[in-house]
Amino acid sequence: MRVTADAERCIGSGMCVLTAGEVFDQSEDDGTVIVLRPEPPEHSRDAVRRAAGNCPAAAITLSP
Ligand code: SF4
Repeated sequence: MRVTADAERCIGSGMCVLTAGEVFDQSEDDGTVIVLRPEPPEHSRDAVRRAAGNCPAAAITLSP
């Protein structure tokens, strides 16, 4: 799995950080998403899928 996030779309809700904090963080400057682990470990992939599905801005993209 590979994760990308579009900081231009992100509205800084922080949902992804709450759901998968190992993989996502927020910028201290403007609160937009930062992908900490673009290739998430196996144990966090379900959480990453949930985070992508729940992102209110549809800013998270997953590729196999
Ligand atoms: S859930 Fe979506 S909108 Fe919210 S911080 Fe994460 S990427 Fe940004």
